[in-house]
Amino acid sequence: MTEQPAGAAGGAPNEIPYLRPHPGAALFERRAVRLRALADGHAMADFLRFCAALSAAQASAAVALDIPLESVAPSAERPLREAVMGRDEWHAALRLIADELHDARMPEAARGGLARAAAMGPEALRGVATQLLSGDAGGLDLAVAPFVGAALQVEYVTLAAQLLASGVMRSERACPACGAPPVAGVVLGDDKLRYLGCSLCASQWHLPRVTCSRCRSTAGISYYSLDGGPGGVKAEVCDSCHGYLKLFYIEQRPAAEPMADDLATRALDLLVAERGYSGTGVNLFLVA
Ligand code: FE
Ligand code: FE
Repeated sequence: MTEQPAGAAGGAPNEIPYLRPHPGAALFERRAVRLRALADGHAMADFLRFCAALSAAQASAAVALDIPLESVAPSAERPLREAVMGRDEWHAALRLIADELHDARMPEAARGGLARAAAMGPEALRGVATQLLSGDAGGLDLAVAPFVGAALQVEYVTLAAQLLASGVMRSERACPACGAPPVAGVVLGDDKLRYLGCSLCASQWHLPRVTCSRCRSTAGISYYSLDGGPGGVKAEVCDSCHGYLKLFYIEQRPAAEPMADDLATRALDLLVAERGYSGTGVNLFLVA
């Protein structure tokens, strides 16, 4: 991190805002609405509706828990990510989510994952969370992961919304609020600014266009889209590090929400993976 303060309200009048306003807990209901809309007529409709139900359960849990930032007290020495990991509010979020989804329709594998997640003790949950956030899915119970990810998001989203209001440092490599990687990016319609959306806390921070989100190269960047596929989505690929990140163009997809639209455009991930690029984005509902 650099030593440049980047509060949500800071900066000169003509300066590009580093952060977009954070919707707080309202994000989860918006995401659920978007996922239901994307599910209509989609080849992965059942999965997207399950993700919508999970997002709606997150919305209820976030309101019920309403975690204040003062209780976590992140600092320069103990950033948000470390401060949260030593606490267990998100375990309560997991129990609330499990109760809410008790009668929800979901794939059999997900049902089993939810039962195993709900039965885990604090130590086991911390172990899964640590591995999930480290980005190394090796040996992880992939049916448990979305529920642990969902519970963590409840806490991080609630806290990030409060943290951004009080100002954060710019970060070159990851989310300036929580340090997690992005899920995808959005390109705004009016001035074509590009923001990356955090996979964990849903903060959105500015990164100049035609810049690799992984290695920051500005050379060897190109774009893939699906012929005849949904409009307003491209994969930005980098020939320096062979990474890619999907971008959603608000002009063509006005209702795009990075995590929801990422889940609904997996066909594009398959296309660029076949060409040898590896995803730099992380989606906690679809850990592979
Ligand atoms: Fe974040
Ligand atoms: Fe790169």
